[in-house]
Amino acid sequence: MAFQDLKSRLGNVKPGRAVELRTPIEAPSGPVTVARLAGGLADLVYFSRKGKKPGTQAEKTEWSTIQSKDVLPALRSHSAELTIAWLVFFGRHPEVKGRFKEQPQDRQRELQQEFDDIRARQVRPWLALRVAAGALGTRTLYLVDDPVFRKLPDPARDAVGTALNDVFAFAGQTRGQAPIRVIFLDPDRFPESYNFADAVVRVVDGKLTDHLDQAHQRQRDNAQHSIQALGIRVTFEPATPSQSVAERLGSSLVLKTVVPAGRTRLAIPIMVAAVDLSAVSSEFVSYYQDEARMIQGGRTLRPTDPGYWNPAQKLLDTATVQGAAKLKAAPNKPEAWDAGLQAQFGTALGRSLAHEARHLYFADADNHAATGLGASDVGDQVVADRPAYRQFSVDDRKNILAAIGKREKEQRGTTLVATFPAARRANGFPF
Ligand SMILES: [Zn+2]
Repeated sequence: MAFQDLKSRLGNVKPGRAVELRTPIEAPSGPVTVARLAGGLADLVYFSRKGKKPGTQAEKTEWSTIQSKDVLPALRSHSAELTIAWLVFFGRHPEVKGRFKEQPQDRQRELQQEFDDIRARQVRPWLALRVAAGALGTRTLYLVDDPVFRKLPDPARDAVGTALNDVFAFAGQTRGQAPIRVIFLDPDRFPESYNFADAVVRVVDGKLTDHLDQAHQRQRDNAQHSIQALGIRVTFEPATPSQSVAERLGSSLVLKTVVPAGRTRLAIPIMVAAVDLSAVSSEFVSYYQDEARMIQGGRTLRPTDPGYWNPAQKLLDTATVQGAAKLKAAPNKPEAWDAGLQAQFGTALGRSLAHEARHLYFADADNHAATGLGASDVGDQVVADRPAYRQFSVDDRKNILAAIGKREKEQRGTTLVATFPAARRANGFPF
């Protein structure tokens, strides 16, 4: 990748003097919505290219493209800070792209220092901000970027972000519907409160049931605390088993309720959705072993099998057998697999997370679609990358948008109760 290449070249150069960055785009001091965060970073990149903010319609279109094609994808990847810093750097120095080594030594030093400054002083402050819930009608899908997730290799994490975005992209492409924005977020930066149309998903390593119980309890305790802080006395119903669902690869629990409280109504969005890393990886590894056994056992494809008409099936079979051997050698170490297998695994993980996120939009946890990624038999199908399970079915998409719309209607006119308030951060992360 070009970025990495240049990074390694720049890495050999000793830093020079600090550079005056001269930009009017400073990160704010308080929490920002995801829209403001993406907008601020797009401002930064646009300004680096043009030396001003967008004015004409054509300039605004260019700005929007930066936001949708560069900034938002960076926010759901393993390298937001680095990627955006490079965009700003090349915005300021398009002439250097691919020609760094041709610069004189002291110029290389200056550029290195400038890049470091852009990264540390312009980009990092934005990416250190706590996020705030967006206005009602905005929809964010937060992925918890914690140590369990971060230990996954880069291609796997990027594939998780891409899969989540691809699966939910239909929302923003449907007339009259707001997009569902996917963002990776460090636990410390999570918002205090959440819209009913928001979702939080997490990768955990084993102990799904314990995780669900603990996260649920923490959110309830936090909500009670927030309600008391409002000076109101309210009790709400415990989550019953019908509001949680345990599946082969993941689990979810949802309890988004509106309760009357004097003259106001309170919206309490309790939600937990997690996928078990070890469950997905052992499914993934055993799927490959089964396929390899079939191929090596002299599998004969029938015209009804997906590979029968595929002229490249022999090559795919060879790759599968080789992949199976690599996975068998290090079944619990994705970091030891090659980038292709890591990305495939990340895609399976991302789709499993999307399935659990879907549960958070419906009122009844056992709601499943008849076919596609929203169906209840999703586990094996996702790991085997079956085409019908790469997306939600057409009917299911309509149902999901209708469910989200219903949730937003319920929330309208209410006061959101914080389920991760600042005062309770020391009690642990609640998702
Ligand atoms: Zn399910």
